[in-house]
Amino acid sequence: MSKIYDVIVLGAGPSGLTAGLYAGRSRLSTLIIEKGQDGGQIAITDEIENYPGQQLEGESGPSLVARMTEQAKKFGAERVSDVIKSVELEGPVKKLVGNKGEYLAKAVIIATGAFPRPIGCKNEAKYVGKGISFCATCDAAFFEDFEVYVVGGGDAAVEEAMYLTKFARKVTIIHRRDELRAAKSIQEKAFANPKIAFLWDTVVDEVGGEDDILSRMVIKNTKTGELTTIEADEDDGMFGLFGFIGLLPNSKLFEGIIDMESGYIRTDDNMHTNIPGVYAAGDIRVKSLRQVVTAAADGAIAAMQAEHYIANMQ
Ligand code: NAP
Repeated sequence: MSKIYDVIVLGAGPSGLTAGLYAGRSRLSTLIIEKGQDGGQIAITDEIENYPGQQLEGESGPSLVARMTEQAKKFGAERVSDVIKSVELEGPVKKLVGNKGEYLAKAVIIATGAFPRPIGCKNEAKYVGKGISFCATCDAAFFEDFEVYVVGGGDAAVEEAMYLTKFARKVTIIHRRDELRAAKSIQEKAFANPKIAFLWDTVVDEVGGEDDILSRMVIKNTKTGELTTIEADEDDGMFGLFGFIGLLPNSKLFEGIIDMESGYIRTDDNMHTNIPGVYAAGDIRVKSLRQVVTAAADGAIAAMQAEHYIANMQ
């Protein structure tokens, strides 16, 4: 029979790694299961400047998360890389079934986070990885000296647009309104950057290009409905299109099992879901602010609640 862990943490972003650190430090036998790379959203974020105490020169999402991973490991949290396909969460022993095996625990902390919302234009799927990207840190270097477009008007779009200016010749932010949602301090930096231009009241309607390389798109004015075609510069033959229009929750696995609101898991202030012994932390839960600092706080609370729950079982 599989080992019964005290706690299984599903997901290794800031909330999951913090939960792993706190659970391990409380001497709970802890397993962190992650399907991809550690870090979640911040693994693909270039600059982190609002995590308290973060003053290190050159700190990026990956460097911050590497230290979080080390810290969780130091306190004894075990790791496995697997994709969980189904869960049985009722009762004193929870079961998670993955591609590689079954995992059992007395308590489960769901920290599966969120993933980028698709741009929503025609032909999008065909050009993902062939001009369309959702990760500037991963793909900016492919667009060295090319033109790049960024869709979105929030913190992510504007910050990543600034990062892209280190590589691209010109970066144009396409936003559906005439005012950015991003924090004022971030906006000011973007407006002062000579490589950044703006297309206001605009959405991308369709993308295209020969040989499956993005070189053409049709944009639509949201006020007038007017359609305009943008072609890649003839010498370039292609351009980049980065989507940063918010996130969608990674919660499909829990549909019909755990209480949710618009796909996000409902918890109380102590991260309890509607199922005893099951907690949710970080971007996956209903909350007002999705930041590294709030994700980390959720993870700590969830782990301490799991500890109380397990102590009261015996
Ligand atoms: P966000 O704040 O939700 O902004 C999404 C942007 O995309 C908005 O400007 C929105 O337009 C636009 N949008 C949404 N759906 C669209 C659609 N279908 N078509 C075109 N545009 C669409 O998302 P985010 O920037 O990814 O940030 C997510 C969370 O992470 C936020 O809480 C953010 O504060 C946080 N974050 C923080 C930092 C930081 O603090 N440094 C950096 C990155 C992310 P409207 O404005 O018209 O709604």
